[in-house]
Amino acid sequence: MLDLRDRVEESDGAGFDPLKTIEQGLAGLAAEDRAGWPGVARSERVTRLLALQERLNAEVLRLVGEWDRDRAWELDGSLSAASWLEHRTPLAAAEARRTVKTARLVDRHDVIRDALADHQLTEPHVTAMSRVVSPHREPLLAEHVHTLVEQARTLPVREFTTVMRRWASLADDHLAADTHEKQWERRHLYAAVTLGGWVEGTFRLDPVGGQTFLNRLDHLAPPDPADAPEGPRTLAQRRADALVELAATADTGRATPPNLNFVIDLPALTGEPADVIAARCDLEGIGPVTRNALEQAACCATVTRHVTNGESVVLDVGRAERVATSAQKRALAVRDRHCRFPSCDRLPSWCDAHHIISWLDNGKTAVDNMVLLCRRHHTLIHQTRWTITRSPDGTLEFNHPARGP
Ligand SMILES: [Zn+2]
Ligand SMILES: [Zn+2]
Repeated sequence: MLDLRDRVEESDGAGFDPLKTIEQGLAGLAAEDRAGWPGVARSERVTRLLALQERLNAEVLRLVGEWDRDRAWELDGSLSAASWLEHRTPLAAAEARRTVKTARLVDRHDVIRDALADHQLTEPHVTAMSRVVSPHREPLLAEHVHTLVEQARTLPVREFTTVMRRWASLADDHLAADTHEKQWERRHLYAAVTLGGWVEGTFRLDPVGGQTFLNRLDHLAPPDPADAPEGPRTLAQRRADALVELAATADTGRATPPNLNFVIDLPALTGEPADVIAARCDLEGIGPVTRNALEQAACCATVTRHVTNGESVVLDVGRAERVATSAQKRALAVRDRHCRFPSCDRLPSWCDAHHIISWLDNGKTAVDNMVLLCRRHHTLIHQTRWTITRSPDGTLEFNHPARGP
């Protein structure tokens, strides 16, 4: 690696070198004797130094974007920009990949690049954007980038991060059912017996199923008192114990419906999110979720919704949406007998009462508008493009546009 000092020497006589000025400044800073400085002076140093660090990071992003556009890294025989950075700069592999990803975002959008240069936008804001921009969302970003940059100008990073997560969720809604299907197809639970018989694994659940699961675990194993004889368990330990307990008691039937809290913006509720930024649909404990997730929750959970108009005006607070009553569930059990999805025969005790017309579209919690679906088929209906229609004689038709009935 070329030594920094050589580089400074090289540029002597070649006009003004801004990096040399920075290097001199840093040398001065390192030599500074701050013994006996008052707190206020140290605070001022911390603020200014971090502000400069942010500016340096912003310039790194702009520069790496230009450098990568020309594929300058290829000249050394590197296979990618990230591996070049990893081997020739102090960045570790993951950081190098993140830097390249963010720099490419900056380079693709003039409005981001210019706002970053003018200090209208900070590097952490751009990083928050980059974190949720994926190739499938990129076309939609091009449409919204001006609005998002406008938001970034005025919001602190923490709030802007929420805006970006919300945008990602709405973008997925917008990008049609395909995305839901792909997400849904990626659900999994890997479990393997390892050394000594221990079982280990990872899993991925849809937002409503996942939150129902976590609520149940946390209900089964609440925090231990600080003076518990064996010491309080960690959250992870409590959930592990709860999972085993859940498995051991699963045959005692379905639990009472979980209570899920949503904060939803009125336009999102009516399916017309006019403002992609403000229209939120957040599940408490999870963050932004899709409208599909809310629709499913309304069938199988007690949903408390806080309807807002824009960020702050709350229109309707805390009304729990009604799931089917036990009398309605009994009527459905008599009529449907089992899950009504084609060739599924899971018994009523394993089924949810699905609303054929969602309550979001003013569907009633009435036997006429409900059908028994086991949890697996219920989630399938909500996460993918299956539709159910009921003909006047009560016959149900399950259709998937791509696969046919
Ligand atoms: Zn449903
Ligand atoms: Zn089923």
